[in-house]
Amino acid sequence: MTVFTDFPLHKSVLDAIQDMGFEEPSPIQAACIPKILEGGDLIGQAQTGTGKTAAFGIPLIERLTPANKIQAIVLTPTRELAIQVAGELRRISKYKRIRTLPIYGGQSISHQIRALKQGVQVVIGTPGRVLDHLRRKTLRLENVNMLVLDEADEMLDMGFIEDIETIISHLNAERQTLLFSATMPPEIKRLAQRYMNNPSTVAVSREEVTAPLIEQVYYKVFDRNKLDSLCRILDSEDVELGIIFCRTKRGVDELTEVLQARGYLADGLHGDLSQAQRDKVMKAFREGSIEFLIATDVAARGIDVSNVSHVINYDIPQDPESYVHRIGRTGRAGRKGIAMTLVTPREMRQMVVIQKQTKAAMLSRNVPTLEEVAERKQEQLREQLISLLDNDAMAEMYLKVAADLTATYPAEKVAAAALHLAFHSESGEDGEAESYNFGETGAAKGMVRFFLNVGRNANIKPQDLVREISESVGIPGKAVGRIDIFESFTFVEVPEEVAPFVYESLRQTRINGKRINLEPAKPRGRK
Ligand code: ADP
Ligand code: MG
Repeated sequence: MTVFTDFPLHKSVLDAIQDMGFEEPSPIQAACIPKILEGGDLIGQAQTGTGKTAAFGIPLIERLTPANKIQAIVLTPTRELAIQVAGELRRISKYKRIRTLPIYGGQSISHQIRALKQGVQVVIGTPGRVLDHLRRKTLRLENVNMLVLDEADEMLDMGFIEDIETIISHLNAERQTLLFSATMPPEIKRLAQRYMNNPSTVAVSREEVTAPLIEQVYYKVFDRNKLDSLCRILDSEDVELGIIFCRTKRGVDELTEVLQARGYLADGLHGDLSQAQRDKVMKAFREGSIEFLIATDVAARGIDVSNVSHVINYDIPQDPESYVHRIGRTGRAGRKGIAMTLVTPREMRQMVVIQKQTKAAMLSRNVPTLEEVAERKQEQLREQLISLLDNDAMAEMYLKVAADLTATYPAEKVAAAALHLAFHSESGEDGEAESYNFGETGAAKGMVRFFLNVGRNANIKPQDLVREISESVGIPGKAVGRIDIFESFTFVEVPEEVAPFVYESLRQTRINGKRINLEPAKPRGRK
């Protein structure tokens, strides 16, 4: 096993990685980081979600000096990615005096010029805006000794190759060039041949992975009330033992704390615990004195407890392999098990990848409503009471109080008051708040209308669109609303509650091989 401390990294960088909660390098990171630190050119190929950003980000930050000049430039296809990569680089450089700056179209150029003047060591930009700055001579790249082309295949698809070549012509030939991509179309290989110096290639391919035969479901949730959604799901399930997965150690700690505070029998397990602490938690879990084990992938590796009834992916797994590893913790020794995955709109595409790769039949479920949870709780309460009434001798004190009260009040009311006293704590005040607001889109009531930049010219048929939407977000085809296909664009309406999921999973995908772009439509008459 490789750990981050195996790499020749400064303590400042290692500490920052620790703070990010990364337990161990992902395969692409394990392979790339030492090679990049040695200084050669490198091509890294791995699927989305495998940690390519930190694969170049860690050695990039490691090699920067505080000198007031731009030493590295990262090119990304979109503004979202530029912001995301800049954020990750900022976290890695938390303990170094390094400034990062994302520059992208759509943001005021004078603001960026001002920020550049203050001195930055690394810029992350989209090709168009970087070129803009080069033409205005507001960006000086003569000291750049590292160029990263991130998501190169996406940049190719978006027609940025010429821009990239122009940018490269401004760079020092002595630089180190890194290229990361999920796929390697011939144009990207050609780009690498022309502009890279004897690059080594790291490809993390994936083996066929097949998920075991257990029931698999996913819930569409929103970041803002993910925790409440989890609690409702837990409350409406008959859990014998459950393992809840989080992506990072910090995530484990945070979730453990809130679940404990809400009265769940839960404890956390991650790589930072001592062997004695781990043993203690595992013993409690095996004995059933805790009902939920909250763990990272690494910590849960090799756990073999036979009566785990539920595996819950609170954070979606990084890749199909880890999905398969995680859910393999249930359904052991021939018992039944269920795997549940919480998916936020942004993670919808990752979910589709996992589903395709593992060929799993995953059903989409709705988070239980408060009423459903209440009903389920009533049932559980009734069962508990019946077993008390049937089996246990009541304490003398309780019997006496009950006898006194039933002399004055109806027995039914006395019992209800006692239940209220014992169980009243929750109130259902959490709203269904979510952060997507598509505004007025000219849709029918309860629906959201989207605009697609392709139409008959891409040979799109209503049934293609219905299939794509129903498969990728798990709604029945008939739930898709009105579809209007024109020569070069299309409108489609979908139910409000799944609109964010449709938006995140379909924008920038392909239909009939054609890249589509999807946006909320403008109200009619204003298009
Ligand atoms: P890619 O560029 O390959 O699509 P990203 O670099 O965006 O993937 O990483 C996906 C997610 O995984 C990010 O949230 C990132 O913070 C997280 N991540 C990356 N490396 C690790 C790691 N070693 N341990 C835990 N999480 C990681
Ligand atoms: Mg990436």
